[in-house]
Amino acid sequence: MEALAVNMNENIHPAEKRKYTKDNIESVKRRNNMRKEKPKPIEGKINFSAGSVDEKNLIYEMTNDIKKAMGDGNPNRTTNKDMFIEVMTFYIKNNITQPLEDQHMAEEDNVPFLDCSFTTCNEETSIQKLFVTAETSIENRIQRVTNHGKVCKSQLHLKSTDIKGHVGVCKFKCDEKHELLWSSSLYMGDKYLCNLRMSHGFYVSGILPNQYSRFCQASNIGSIGETTLNSIFQKSSPVVSRLVKESYETALLEEIASDEELQEGIDIVTDARHGTRKNSMYTDVVCLGARTHKDTC
Ligand SMILES: [Zn+2]
Repeated sequence: MEALAVNMNENIHPAEKRKYTKDNIESVKRRNNMRKEKPKPIEGKINFSAGSVDEKNLIYEMTNDIKKAMGDGNPNRTTNKDMFIEVMTFYIKNNITQPLEDQHMAEEDNVPFLDCSFTTCNEETSIQKLFVTAETSIENRIQRVTNHGKVCKSQLHLKSTDIKGHVGVCKFKCDEKHELLWSSSLYMGDKYLCNLRMSHGFYVSGILPNQYSRFCQASNIGSIGETTLNSIFQKSSPVVSRLVKESYETALLEEIASDEELQEGIDIVTDARHGTRKNSMYTDVVCLGARTHKDTC
C-alpha cells in the first residue's frame, strides 16, 4: 500500500500538484461565497397531534396523495410548502369570503367579481346570439359550474350555442375536456318553458304570424317554427276558451249582483255595428256590464 502511494506521487509533477491544489482552493472559495450570497430558506413547522398511529398515518397518506396529484403522479415533484399553499387556498376560496382579495384577483382578468358593473360590447359582439332564459336555469348553471370547479381547476369556456325556438342550448368545455351542456330554459311537460311563454305572448298580443317572425328576426332572439306554434295552439286553445267562458260567467254574476232590482235585468254597453256594414263582418262585439264595465259575453 505504501509502495503504491509512493508510485502515485512519483507520477505527479510537483508544479502540476501545486496548480491543482490552488485551483481546488479557488473553486471551494467561490462555492462558499455563492452559498453565503444565496438567501437561506426560511424553515417553518406545523405540528399536529393525532389520536392514534393510524390517524397520523392517514394524514401522511393524504398529504402524499395530494402531492402525487399535484406532481403528475410523482409526490417528490411537489414540496410541502406548495402542497400546503394549494390546499389552504382551495379551502379559503370555497369557505371563507374574502371579497376584497377575490375582487382583486378576478379583476386581473377584467372580470368584475362582486360589484354590479356593466360589460360593454363592440361592433363584432353586438351581433352575437341572444336567447330567452329563466331564473332557475341561471341558478342551475351556477351550481353546475361550481361543482365542476370542485373537481377541476381548468376553466369552462362556451364552445357553441344552438338556438331552439327562443332557448339557447350551450355547450361548455374545459381544457381537461369536461363537457357541460346547458339549456337556458327548463322544461314544462315536453316543451321548453321559455318557448311556451313566448308563444303565449304571441297569441295574446294579437300580432300576425309574419309580424312575429319579423320581430324575432330583427331582434335576433330566435323564433318558434310554425309547426311548434300550431301544436302549442292546439293544446292551449281549449284551456283559454274555458277560462274565457268562466271569466264571462263571473262578470255576468257580478253585474247581476251589483243591481238590487234583479227582476229588471241588467244594462249593457256595446259598440256593436250594423251587420250590413262591410267592416263589421269579422268584428268581435264586446259587451260590457253597464255598472261593473266588465266583459260579460
Ligand atoms: Zn374540467
